[in-house]
Amino acid sequence: MRNVLIAGLSIFITQFAIGEPPKNRFDGFSDSEQAYLKRVHGGSGALAFRSDDPAGFQAWRGVARTKLKQLLGFERIVSQTVGHVPSVHLEQATWVDGHWRQLGEIETEPGLKVAFWILRPDRDYQKERPVMICAHGHDADGWNTYAGVYRDGQHRAATEAKQGDPAVQAVKQGYIAVVPATRGLADANSVSDINGRHGNRKCRAQLMHCLMGGRTAIGERVWDTKCLLDWVVAELEGADVRRIGMLGNSGGGVLTVYVAALDERIVVAHPSCSLTSFTSESGYIFHCDCCMVPGIKSELADMPDIAALIIPRDLVVVHGEKDTLHSAISVNRAMKRLEAVYSQAGFSSKFFFRWQSLGHRFYPETFWPVMNRVLQIDRSAMLD
Ligand SMILES: [Zn+2]
Repeated sequence: MRNVLIAGLSIFITQFAIGEPPKNRFDGFSDSEQAYLKRVHGGSGALAFRSDDPAGFQAWRGVARTKLKQLLGFERIVSQTVGHVPSVHLEQATWVDGHWRQLGEIETEPGLKVAFWILRPDRDYQKERPVMICAHGHDADGWNTYAGVYRDGQHRAATEAKQGDPAVQAVKQGYIAVVPATRGLADANSVSDINGRHGNRKCRAQLMHCLMGGRTAIGERVWDTKCLLDWVVAELEGADVRRIGMLGNSGGGVLTVYVAALDERIVVAHPSCSLTSFTSESGYIFHCDCCMVPGIKSELADMPDIAALIIPRDLVVVHGEKDTLHSAISVNRAMKRLEAVYSQAGFSSKFFFRWQSLGHRFYPETFWPVMNRVLQIDRSAMLD
């Protein structure tokens, strides 16, 4: 009982210690907590890549992907949607801000419709263009934000000030940009958190329903993206299916890693301010609860090894020095690990990582040159 009272008191004090961050933001656990968390999180994953594995990289990748699909709850989603064929509905395209904008909707499960924007530089559908899938993170209006579909002038100003409109940037460079509403993150595509039971967080409500049902929130987001990719490859006019990239900041970057890890149609991926170890050295968990995949670190591996499933395709990673959600120590450790696996697999030139000087945001000047080089943009198609 005494421990319960002390724990309750510490929560009370913590909640009211606003403005007094711990000296080390990610390592404030007590010695006993650290010992416990080391036991919980410690050790390398059962399926972490090993350079001395006689089976080699490709064999590891196949085994690790199978395990990842299992942990994401893919089999459960597949078994619950047997016979369902995703259908797509498109509205008329309109000319806005120097490009064509079209609203779409794809039914990825019976009755579950994922809205998305398509941005095109022109209406020459005969000309094949590279495609950029843009995955947003924790922004209830994120798919609109990314696509430059603004509520008002303030929304526009705030987005443009942090270069948070990657789909607009893409279309200006000749891409077809596709921007889905991420499940559990966009209000347009979320289950309600009735009575605030899950902390008034729709992403956590999604997670809890998924975990109870043998799915994961990330698994559902990957599922939606793969359904959209199926449609892009099979039916999106003008899409060059050999030149598809994917990007996202924060939770959208986490989704980008998982989709690219499993789907080889993505030839270059850019997770912005998101790809790091799952935990700090002392056990602090970096990502939002909704990114949780039960057992992933022990039964599979840490996040750099999940990203290594993208090999031999291109991966461009950027982090911001002033990003308060991530630890520079953990990011550097993760990047060192990923660089080593890319090198051991013989594709070191396909991995690109840079620190940038600002916070939790996109860094277009860093990732677009890599995207454009890989996707062989026809520079004559650029609008600016
Ligand atoms: Zn979340």
